[in-house]
Amino acid sequence: MTFLEQVPLYPLAPLLFAAATALFLLQMARHLRIFAAAQPVVVTDQPESRLRSMFVYSIAQVRMFRDLGPGLMHAAIFWGFVVLIIGTADRVTFGLVHATLAWPFDGWLWRLLQPVQNLLGVAVLGAVGYALFRRMVVRPRRLTLSRDGLTILLLIAGVVIFELLAEAFRIGRFGDPDAAWAVVANPVGMALASVLPAWVMEAGYVLSFWGSIAIVCFFLVYLPRSKHLHIVTAIFNALFRKVQPRGALPAMDLEAESARFGVKTIDDLGWKDLLDGFTCTECGRCQDACPAWATGKPLNPKTMIMGLREMTVDAEKGMPLIPFIKPASAPGRAEGDGLATPIVDAAIPYDAVWDCVTCGACVEACPVLIEHVDKIVGLRRNLVLEESRFPTELTGAMAAMERYGNPWGQPASARLDWTKGLPFEVPTAAQVAEGGPDAVSELECLYWVGCAAAFDDRNKRVARAFVTCLDAAGVSYAVLGQEESCTGDPARRMGNEYVFQMLATGNIETLAGYKPKTIVTACPHCFNTLGNEYGQLGGHYEVIHHSAFLARLVEGGRLRSADPGDPAGVATRTLTYHDSCYLARYNGVIAEPRAVLGAVPGVELREMDKNGRGGFCCGAGGGRMWMEETRGTRINAERTRQALDTGAETIATACPFCLVMLKDGLADAGERAGSVQAQDVAEILAASLAARPERQLPVLRPGGGR
Ligand code: SF4
Ligand code: SF4
Repeated sequence: MTFLEQVPLYPLAPLLFAAATALFLLQMARHLRIFAAAQPVVVTDQPESRLRSMFVYSIAQVRMFRDLGPGLMHAAIFWGFVVLIIGTADRVTFGLVHATLAWPFDGWLWRLLQPVQNLLGVAVLGAVGYALFRRMVVRPRRLTLSRDGLTILLLIAGVVIFELLAEAFRIGRFGDPDAAWAVVANPVGMALASVLPAWVMEAGYVLSFWGSIAIVCFFLVYLPRSKHLHIVTAIFNALFRKVQPRGALPAMDLEAESARFGVKTIDDLGWKDLLDGFTCTECGRCQDACPAWATGKPLNPKTMIMGLREMTVDAEKGMPLIPFIKPASAPGRAEGDGLATPIVDAAIPYDAVWDCVTCGACVEACPVLIEHVDKIVGLRRNLVLEESRFPTELTGAMAAMERYGNPWGQPASARLDWTKGLPFEVPTAAQVAEGGPDAVSELECLYWVGCAAAFDDRNKRVARAFVTCLDAAGVSYAVLGQEESCTGDPARRMGNEYVFQMLATGNIETLAGYKPKTIVTACPHCFNTLGNEYGQLGGHYEVIHHSAFLARLVEGGRLRSADPGDPAGVATRTLTYHDSCYLARYNGVIAEPRAVLGAVPGVELREMDKNGRGGFCCGAGGGRMWMEETRGTRINAERTRQALDTGAETIATACPFCLVMLKDGLADAGERAGSVQAQDVAEILAASLAARPERQLPVLRPGGGR
């Protein structure tokens, strides 16, 4: 008789396990039936990238380790649990796992597993204790203390304790063919056997055997309804992640006659969005990173994702567990009834939909690769295009983009006003094209000025500084001038896809006439939209941000800064650099603007705590530039405070929207700001140029408002 057969009613264990597994699978299948009613999502592209994501984010869990303590805790629980559950698997398969693992390497695989299980078991119990301590005593703001979370932690602890006890009693009572190894592999069991009578060891084995089976079966039945379903779904969420550039919002077919515009209910979401909901661990990292939440707005990306999951589960309530068998307890409720509930005001308050600056900090922070921004913009699309329900301040900006091709509502004839008074000509593409059909494509670059630099007084100075650098470096370039329109970025992020596509198709047509080799722009929003989104409408370009272009010119020796002792040298000595979300987080342009600043003699860079991909938004993205910020602290005030905390004399940036927000933040900071000023990297570099003094940037009047 084997040690398994010593257990009364042992054959029932596999039956119980099979029943629990069947219940688990039926509940999972019900989730999948809801997924089937959602929108299709293509997940077959870029298989290598998907597999890499699966290993990096799901198996190695690299994002968890950004927060080391909780990261180690999570890894110990996850991996320890996986290894320990092998013992239960052995019991419910009549010892098949043991037989399989005992076969290769002369049985050493199984032997080694025993001490590893014991060590990991202790690690899991320590990690569960730490997790309970954090939730119940430390109580970080980002974590929610829920009954579900506590239940799962106690279940995990229960599985591990019974598993460890079962092994200890088994070895102690029935021994091991290799007695010497048993002492090494399970010293606790051997020690117990030396002091306890055999019947106690046997009873302990039986109780812990059935205890582990009972908890694992309960766990299986409970898991599909728990937030800990992410144990199963996280791997698929990483595999089916968005592999398109993160800054590209989902394409939208405005011609599709039957389509609903945007996202109203959960069946307008893609099935991957629903999988996101089931994968959320409620860790609150997105909430911690969100500038809207941090400054007291109602928007909370974590509760939005949790709300979507609740709506999905609610939609399942009328669905039978076994397909086609309607439960008597749900009279009158048809399958998928819950799918008709609007998401706005159910999973996310209406105001919160408009609080989002689309900064992507939530997406960057999420350890399981959940996409929040696409969902929020999807909701905005529906509110704008179907319900005409949006903040009144947006009406003017949307109408101006539609009528004048820019949110400032300025005439196209004013697009070159910023060039007035420059000591050199700024050529337009139309002028260059007079030299031949390929004349523009032979230029080094087309400078995409953008609406902010064309119409905002403060940003006109940036455009002048940038062309001064181009001129000093002898770069051949042109601008579109009156032919340029807004890229449509603000319209798209406000949810007005119609205006975005109108502007984008017009620009694509214009660019098709010139075929520029490279487009350079100082605006990260134009950079992102031209480079990552115009491809959805057939416009494919090489687009470079001006900071990267300037860094190349400096590196190639085409731009030289003044000697530090030269009176033309830069006056700034200490500065901090504010990363634009659309440059750093969405497009990874982080080193280049710093390289430009590093080329300016005498500059000392002081980083803010939140920088690079982890930067804090200025508050202007997602159309918020044109909205009032009436709730909580202003986001630009918070970012300005962070910049002033560095003690730097200048806040450098590389985005026209950030520049305006930081300039306003400094003005609002009053005395604390002192003489600190906000400047674009191009201005700082241009002010330090040594070459061609006759072409130095002329002194300009201080700029006006937004
Ligand atoms: S994109 Fe930014 S503002 Fe919007 S929910 Fe995410 S973190 Fe918050
Ligand atoms: S969405 Fe991601 S970051 Fe936010 S709570 Fe869920 S798992 Fe954590």
